[in-house]
Amino acid sequence: MRRSLYFLPTLKETPAEAQIASHRLMLRAGMIRQSSAGIYSWLPLGLRVLRNIERIVREEQDAAGCQELLMPTIQPADLWRESGRYDDYGKEMLRIPDRHGRDMLYGPTHEEVVTEVFRSYVKSYRDLPKNLYQIQWKFRDEVRPRFGVMRGREFLMKDNYSFDLDIAGAKRSYDNMYATYLRTFARMGLRAIPVKADPGAIGGDMSHEFHILAETGESAVYYDAAFDGMDLSGGADSVARLQSLYAAADDKHDPKSCPVPPERLRAARGIEVGHIFYFGTKYSAPMGAAVTGPNGESITVEMGSYGIGVSRLVGAIIEAYHDDAGIMWPASVAPFQVGLINLKAGDAACDETCAEIYATLLEHSVDVIYDDRSDSPGVKFADMDLIGLPWQVIVGPRGLKSGTVEIKERRSGRRQEMSLESLFARLPGEAGKPGLALLPG
Ligand code: ATP
Ligand code: MG
Repeated sequence: MRRSLYFLPTLKETPAEAQIASHRLMLRAGMIRQSSAGIYSWLPLGLRVLRNIERIVREEQDAAGCQELLMPTIQPADLWRESGRYDDYGKEMLRIPDRHGRDMLYGPTHEEVVTEVFRSYVKSYRDLPKNLYQIQWKFRDEVRPRFGVMRGREFLMKDNYSFDLDIAGAKRSYDNMYATYLRTFARMGLRAIPVKADPGAIGGDMSHEFHILAETGESAVYYDAAFDGMDLSGGADSVARLQSLYAAADDKHDPKSCPVPPERLRAARGIEVGHIFYFGTKYSAPMGAAVTGPNGESITVEMGSYGIGVSRLVGAIIEAYHDDAGIMWPASVAPFQVGLINLKAGDAACDETCAEIYATLLEHSVDVIYDDRSDSPGVKFADMDLIGLPWQVIVGPRGLKSGTVEIKERRSGRRQEMSLESLFARLPGEAGKPGLALLPG
């Protein structure tokens, strides 16, 4: 993509309304535009990141045996009357009458819709277990939308729902998602701590929230210091070990009964990026989602639901990866892998070399944005640091005299001059997957 043609409205000034780094940086980097409180347009750069996060989430869901479907954003109130939640849900639910006066709503979540789909088709124990997921926009009329996409009113969620024959099966589905979530967040460069959360009326301990530690997090979390050094990337055998360690959100934490001695207890702020939840027959019983068992008996299915805040993650990743100059994207979610900077657009040697690098990167399927504008070097450097691509390739007249260009790694700030030949030798041979390394070590 040529910067001169790209719709990328970066801002020099810090927007006054933004209180936390990720919100400020998303506005300054031209990723989002507020439409009304807690409702945003995703501009091209922001959308690329959102899509990358979606892709990782989708790959991990598919690998875990979940199947994707897409349910409607607008739901009939009658389904929520069946489950008994229509009156309970309160003001967070946006209620919309249609032209016939039927009560509709913009879905804040999809347990009712998925249960209706399931009960219509699945009739035998032989068809279990099932796990269905979607990546879909939700609407919750939050009292205090804030921090940009972190607490929006309209937001993108991955939600999935498991259906099992018995509690043992539900526990397997739950643990499968627990490990899947760890893997998913690890692929985005995040350490997500699974903390015990309020299981609601069901009781038990099958409810966990996944928190990214950050000072700007809205939740208080308490956890065993043992988490600090642990591998949180979701190896299958780590689930039992992690679940045995103490970690709790504030609504679950009680200093009086906490089993961890004070010197080993950590208190921190967390951003909730995921929530997994077993709720038994809470929806399947009132809505009649049952299958025929091996002896012809009717068995009400055991359900769980699992959510990842896909749009919130964009903000959460920035909270974890930024400095004073801007964002520092992990390669797996970066909107482009390389920013190519032409320090003197209009200079024949610079233009030619940049054109060659640009074409070569594209040939190797490396996502690149080429800053071909005639602005000053200072403007281009600041812009490129702000949008935070993993690599910068800087081409200027001085370097070209000695046949070199400069490579900069955004995260470490490391720089090195090299010839085009050695730059090209570092490009991936096959379709460019993340993992590009333009500098040694
Ligand atoms: P919170 O306590 O932050 O309001 P929640 O308990 O209401 O979250 P869930 O219903 O479990 O959230 O939704 C699953 C995930 O969706 C959450 O873990 C979070 O990452 C994301 N999420 C929830 N509400 C919002 C929101 N208003 N804006 C952006 N993401 C959200
Ligand atoms: Mg909420």
